[in-house]
Amino acid sequence: MTAGHDRPGGLRVVNLRLWIPLLLVGVTLLRLALLAWSERESYFDQLGEFTDRTAHAQLLHVRRDMEDLLRERGGIGLEGELSELGLDPLVRHAALVDDAGTVMAATRFEWKGHAAAGMLPGYPEALAAEARRSRRERLVLDGTRDHLVAVAPVTLALRPGEMRSRRIGLLVIDYDLLPLRAEAWRHSLRYATIFGGMMVAMMLVLIALGHRFILLPVRALSEGMSRIGRGDFTVAAAFRGRGEFKELGDALADMAGALQAGRARLEESEARFRHLSDAATEAIFIHDGGTIVDANAAAARLVGLSQEALKGHDIYALVAEHDRARKRTLTEQGIEGSWALDFLDADGQVVPTEVNVRQWQVGDRPLRVLAAHDLRERLAAEAEIRQLSNFDPLTGLPNRRLLLERVAHAVDDVDGGDRHASLATFNLDSFNVINESLGMAAGDAVLRAVAMRLSGALRHGQMLARVDGDTFAVLLPDLDAAIGPASEQASRSVEELLGQLAEPLELNGQILHLSAGAGLVMIPNDSRDPAELLREAETAMHQSKLAADSRVRFFAHDLQEAAAARLTLRTDLKQAIVARDQLLLHFQPQIDAQDQLRGVEALVRWHHPTRGMIPPGDFIGEAEASGLIVPLGNWVMEEAVACMRRCEKDLELHALAMAVNVSPRQFREPDFVPRVEDLLARLGDCTLSLEIELTESVAAEDLEATLEKMQLLRRHGVKLALDDFGTGYSSLSYLKRLPIDTLKIDRSFVMDIDAPTPRPGLGKRPAALIEAIIAMAHQLDMQVLAEGVETPAQHAHLLRAGCDIFQGFLFSRPLAEDALHAWVRQRHQA
Ligand code: C2E
Ligand code: CA
Ligand code: CA
Repeated sequence: MTAGHDRPGGLRVVNLRLWIPLLLVGVTLLRLALLAWSERESYFDQLGEFTDRTAHAQLLHVRRDMEDLLRERGGIGLEGELSELGLDPLVRHAALVDDAGTVMAATRFEWKGHAAAGMLPGYPEALAAEARRSRRERLVLDGTRDHLVAVAPVTLALRPGEMRSRRIGLLVIDYDLLPLRAEAWRHSLRYATIFGGMMVAMMLVLIALGHRFILLPVRALSEGMSRIGRGDFTVAAAFRGRGEFKELGDALADMAGALQAGRARLEESEARFRHLSDAATEAIFIHDGGTIVDANAAAARLVGLSQEALKGHDIYALVAEHDRARKRTLTEQGIEGSWALDFLDADGQVVPTEVNVRQWQVGDRPLRVLAAHDLRERLAAEAEIRQLSNFDPLTGLPNRRLLLERVAHAVDDVDGGDRHASLATFNLDSFNVINESLGMAAGDAVLRAVAMRLSGALRHGQMLARVDGDTFAVLLPDLDAAIGPASEQASRSVEELLGQLAEPLELNGQILHLSAGAGLVMIPNDSRDPAELLREAETAMHQSKLAADSRVRFFAHDLQEAAAARLTLRTDLKQAIVARDQLLLHFQPQIDAQDQLRGVEALVRWHHPTRGMIPPGDFIGEAEASGLIVPLGNWVMEEAVACMRRCEKDLELHALAMAVNVSPRQFREPDFVPRVEDLLARLGDCTLSLEIELTESVAAEDLEATLEKMQLLRRHGVKLALDDFGTGYSSLSYLKRLPIDTLKIDRSFVMDIDAPTPRPGLGKRPAALIEAIIAMAHQLDMQVLAEGVETPAQHAHLLRAGCDIFQGFLFSRPLAEDALHAWVRQRHQA
């Protein structure tokens, strides 16, 4: 139990089970030794007493008797006297020796008449001489104390003629003391036996008491302690009675109680924590140098193992192989932060996640907690958007975006000068007639059939795209190095395609004869911008259509004319911006899911003095190209802000957003933000808010500067909307970083909702894409506005998909300011 082991500074303890009996045995032995010593002393006392009294008295008594016998009876009877003495068991022998040293009488008859020195064993000659001289008796113990010699002078009888006897004899008695010692030994033995027995009995009693009252309580205490150590707190106060052990037992029970209560509290808080962590949607792992010590329910779902199985599991084994070494390094260096990490699920499939890692120290071990956010859904949505945004939903052909990308490549490819390329566009003749007479569905079917036919006629490397409505484009790479043969190859290819198109087409039992106008542009030419090249091809195509002769037109011939037209437009626009009275704003209402007016979008209108109303689509591009967009945009913002104040005053409308389109060029102006600040200051405490609509291309140039401006605007309470989402799609990773409030899904997506058939090759309804966009936007905390909502079916579908805001002809066309006011008042009355 209390094994004595040395600890520096600790109390030294010993093993009681060993030391108590040892002590008792030691005490007993000591006592026995004392006993032996005192017995010996008392034996010596006894010997002294025997010598001084018994033997001395006997010696004197026998001498007196002998002298009487010698004097009165002439020595007769001496023999008898000595024989009687010889009967004493202690007397070995005795003799009377005359003055000449001859034995006169002895306990052994044969010694008589012989010289005493020769006959008597151990005759004490020196002692005899001494006794004769001093005339005094002598008693001497030999060295071993088991032998006593007593000598006494005896006056011998008168010889005839003597008056006084001068002769002195000697009485010698030799005592054997061994019987005396044997007697004393027997006595001591008896005494020691009794004492030893008593000691053993006492020891047994002491040991029994010690066992019962010390060892057992100590064992009970130590067992109780080890039970507590094992986490069993059910030890009651184990002792009855009172005393130190009782106090110890009570203290132990108190300690167990306190530990029990502490553990209950700990278990409760652990359970609370467990519920909390299991409720989390993020997968949480806690690991110690790679060994998982805890994981929540979401973690178990992520990797497809049970929570129990995860404990003790190696976390690196759950990480995709290409990420393992990096994860190990991050762990070893104790680096905290967020990064992407690929896990493996139960089937060995990679699960991409974004992890947030924190580390803390428990004792000398660093524990790392890793919260993983499953990115599968978001990445799938992103991938879907990425893929779908490259294709036209109706025909499955590459769309304008993908085409322009390929045209850009073609421009780069022909830069060496050893080849030409060409971009051609077709527009179906009288397509609107088909639409109107046979219905939209038939129109769609025709477009799909055309796409199929033309795709089938393509040569290697050529790309067919649907750029808009009934307009298709073909990119023809790998043409001749000389411009002459190259343009001939190009026009021949386009004529072939037109020939394919002209083949009769059967639709719902009707035979249709299609034709198209086609224009093409050779690459390289003066323009390097893909959109510009496309515009040029379209310009040529319009020429072809105007001529209606089904001949392919080259752009170059008409270049001058179009450029001249652009120049006129530019001059007129400059004029209009200065004069101002030709420009005005229309406003299109935006309605939320609760059917409440949430805001209006300001759209510029140009009332040309001779050409009449020019739609923004016809002049915004030119304004951007010439830089006129900056003063134009400034005017729009000022006008919109003025209108905001009037709206607040006249309509008592509050919490309304005024959305203004801002072109990338305008946004990049260094004084853009100060200008907005100035306008806001002029607005004062107006309850309407300003919303700026930007397209994704603003982020394409200098992301950091754009971000900074956006954040600054937001701090001033300006809302930000991302316009035309899905057309100019750049990169979702940018989008994630931009502080956007509202994402405006482009009209082309909304239009597709009613398209009844899945997109060829993709097997997805366009509506699914909208759902993916909405889910992703909500994940990034953006509201979603759908543009161009024209039908109740589109509206209903968008509502179901979780869209937040709607804008389109279904609610209202863009309205002049007074018309807007009337529209709002009418809604209020309704
Ligand atoms: P946007 O910003 O996408 O504006 C929405 C356009 O869609 C408007 O054409 C609007 O009339 C039209 N729209 C609205 N609802 C429907 C609908 O249900 N069906 C159909 N088919 N169309 C609908 P708008 O006014 O011709 O403007 C064309 C583009 O011109 C605008 O597209 C915008 O990019 C640009 N724009 C207009 N005003 C400004 C401006 O002040 N500054 C700048 N930088 N650009 C402007
Ligand atoms: Ca807009
Ligand atoms: Ca738009």
